[in-house]
Amino acid sequence: MAGLLEGRRGLIMGIANERSIAWGIAKSAQREGAELALTFAGEMLEKRVRPLAAELGSEIVLPCDVQVDSDIEAAFDSLGEHWDSFDFLVHSIAFANRDDLKGRFVDTTRDGFALALDVSVYSLIATVRAALPLLRPGGNILTMTYLGGERTIPHYNVMGVAKAALESAVRYLAADLGPSGVRINAISAGPVRTLAAAGIGDFRKILDWYEQNAPLRRATTQDEVGDAALMLLSDWGRSITGEIVHVDGGYHSVAVPPAAEDVE
Ligand code: NAD
Repeated sequence: MAGLLEGRRGLIMGIANERSIAWGIAKSAQREGAELALTFAGEMLEKRVRPLAAELGSEIVLPCDVQVDSDIEAAFDSLGEHWDSFDFLVHSIAFANRDDLKGRFVDTTRDGFALALDVSVYSLIATVRAALPLLRPGGNILTMTYLGGERTIPHYNVMGVAKAALESAVRYLAADLGPSGVRINAISAGPVRTLAAAGIGDFRKILDWYEQNAPLRRATTQDEVGDAALMLLSDWGRSITGEIVHVDGGYHSVAVPPAAEDVE
């Protein structure tokens, strides 16, 4: 039987290492037949990402720091030299200063706020705009969010505000892109131990809390997010756009999130 994404091409932005959620998505997409291109942010990560690309059989590996407009432009220009069109874009990118992911939200600085929103939200708008000329009608975009955008989660702070903005951006982009047949959605993943998560204060305790309280009584894995992404990336999700899909063992339906003192 042909894979769900047989004959499809996708660009995956946001693999840092084999723990990245984007890596889980890339593995699932490749398993279902997709041909993939990857981007990486900075030379340090290139060393990690190239071997992972080789594992996927991906020959297109491009540098792209999403804070730099010329990087975004160059990445999509290069992609266009390899592919005349493509089918899906995965944006799995976020960043905030460590100091802004602990303590009180009220202490967020102007610079810290601008940085978090630039890397974690504006980058989606900028990359979608750059991708559009190459994105096939019927194509789609997927980004990654977290429950901290809907509710207060201890220490998530400025990243919660960034995720709320990202989720709103998904809805506005869905309205823009829908008439040309392009979809965009977000997956709200449960906590997964990754490089980005390591920057969040007391992340281990947040993870424990999920394992004890999520209806499925366990944390979410990269592979589970990857498999759920297949529905949105493939024609199975062809009528779904502007949506935030929770892949978190049902945790978002639990009434009581941890109080700050539970994770201190
Ligand atoms: P990760 O550290 O593996 O991935 C984050 C990626 O962002 C890295 O590849 C990094 O290179 C990239 N990045 C940061 N700044 C960049 C820049 N200026 N230009 C280009 N790329 C840049 O961590 P992850 O947890 O896989 O994070 C991926 C996404 O999933 C993020 O949006 C994150 O907020 C979201 N998310 C994570 C969790 C979790 O618990 N880990 C839960 C829900 C949502």
